[in-house]
Amino acid sequence: MNIDVSEFAKPCPCGHTHEISVCGIYIEPGAIRRLPALLDQSGCQNPVILCDENTYEAAGKAVRDLLPGSGLIVLNPENLHANEHGVAMAEEQLDALHTPDVLLAVGSGTIHDITRFIAHKRGLPFVSVPTAASVDGFVSTVAAMTWNGCKKTFPAVAPVLVVADSDIFSRAPHRLNASGFSDLLGKYTALADWKIAHAVTGEYICDRVCQLEYDALKVVCQRLDAIREGGREACEELMYALLLSGLAMQMVGNSRPASGAEHHMSHLWEMEVINGHVNYYHGEKVSVGLVLSSGIYHRAAEEIRRGAFTIRDHMPLEMDLLESSFPDKAMLGEILDENRVNPLDAIQPDTLRAALPDILRSIEEIPTPQELTDMLARAGAGKSLAEIGLPDSMRAPTARLSPYVRARLTFMRMLKLFSFEHDIL
Ligand SMILES: [Zn+2]
Ligand SMILES: [Zn+2]
Repeated sequence: MNIDVSEFAKPCPCGHTHEISVCGIYIEPGAIRRLPALLDQSGCQNPVILCDENTYEAAGKAVRDLLPGSGLIVLNPENLHANEHGVAMAEEQLDALHTPDVLLAVGSGTIHDITRFIAHKRGLPFVSVPTAASVDGFVSTVAAMTWNGCKKTFPAVAPVLVVADSDIFSRAPHRLNASGFSDLLGKYTALADWKIAHAVTGEYICDRVCQLEYDALKVVCQRLDAIREGGREACEELMYALLLSGLAMQMVGNSRPASGAEHHMSHLWEMEVINGHVNYYHGEKVSVGLVLSSGIYHRAAEEIRRGAFTIRDHMPLEMDLLESSFPDKAMLGEILDENRVNPLDAIQPDTLRAALPDILRSIEEIPTPQELTDMLARAGAGKSLAEIGLPDSMRAPTARLSPYVRARLTFMRMLKLFSFEHDIL
C-alpha cells in the first residue's frame, strides 16, 4: 500500500504547483527492513533514532538492530509533550552524539513534532517511522507545539521518507489508532470551514486538496467496524488515509485542509484556561470538538434558513472575554499577537449575506452530531465532553473562546457576526 507521491506534485487546476517534499511512503508489513537500503541511497551515514521508552520497546529496538551504528535518544514518556521541555531533553542528548546527518522519529505525534522541530532548527532531514495510526500530522510541514503554555504552530520540515510498518502500528493500543480515526473525522468541519471562508472572503482553496481529504474520509468511513476490531488491513487503510490527509496539508503548506473549529477547541482545552488538565489523545479531543462544532453549525444553519437572525456590521475582539479568560499576561500576549489582524475585519455584511447559500451547502455536508456519534461509536472512538473528563457546562465557553486560539477564519469565528433569535450554543 505504498503511495506514489509524484502524483500529488503535478500542476493543479487551482493554479498552484503543489510542493511535495516527502520522497517515499511505504505502508506494509516489515517496512522497517527497508531502512538500511533507503538511508544508504540518500547518502545518510549517521542516523539518530528518537523515541520514548514505550516506542523503543515497540519499534526503536528493532530499528536499532537494523541500523547498529545509529545514535539513540530514548525520552522518558512521562509528561512528555511537544513543548520547550521535550525539545530541550532531546537536544541535550543529541548534542552528546557525533555529527548526526538524519533523524529518525520512531513514535507517534509527540515524538514526530519534537523531531521535526529539531530537524528544522538544525537543517537535518528526518525519516518518519510511525508506531501508531494516531494522527494525520506525520508528513506535515509544521510542528504543533505548546510553547510557554500556548498552542502554537511552528514552521518545521516534513519527513523525507515515511516508513510505516504495519507489523508495528497495527499492534499499537486500540485507543491510539481510534484517536487517529477521530483526527480524520475532524476533516468534516475543517473542510466546511475552509469552503465557507473561501465563499465569504475569497481565501485560496484547492478542490483537489479538498477531494484528497474526502477520499481519506471515504477510505475509513467504509471500514468503521474493522477499525474497531483493529485488524492489520484496517489499520493499514487508516494509516493510508492519515498520510493522504497529511499530504493534503503538505500540498498547501499549512494545516488549513485538516484543521478548523474542531481543532481550535482541542487546542483551547490543551491550554487549560477554562478547564483543568485534559490527559487525552489529540484525536480524542478533536472528535469531541467535531461533535460540538457540528451541532452548533447545524443549529446556526437552521436559524439562517428560518431567517431568524441579523448580521452585525463589525465585531471587534472581545477584550473583556479574552482578559478574563487569559489572566496569565504572557498567554494573553500570545493570543493578542495571534489576533493582531482580526479575520472578521475582512468581512463585509453584504458579502456574508450573499454567501449564505454557499455556507448552508457546506454545513449540509457535515454529518449531524448524531451521525458522527454513531460513526465514532462504531469505530470505538470517543465523542462526548464527559469522555474526555470535561463537564457539559464547558460547551458554550469553549465555543466562544476557541476561535481566538488561532486567527484562522472558521464559521465558528464568523458566528460572532450573527445575532440569532435562539441560542445556538
Ligand atoms: Zn491545487
Ligand atoms: Zn489533528
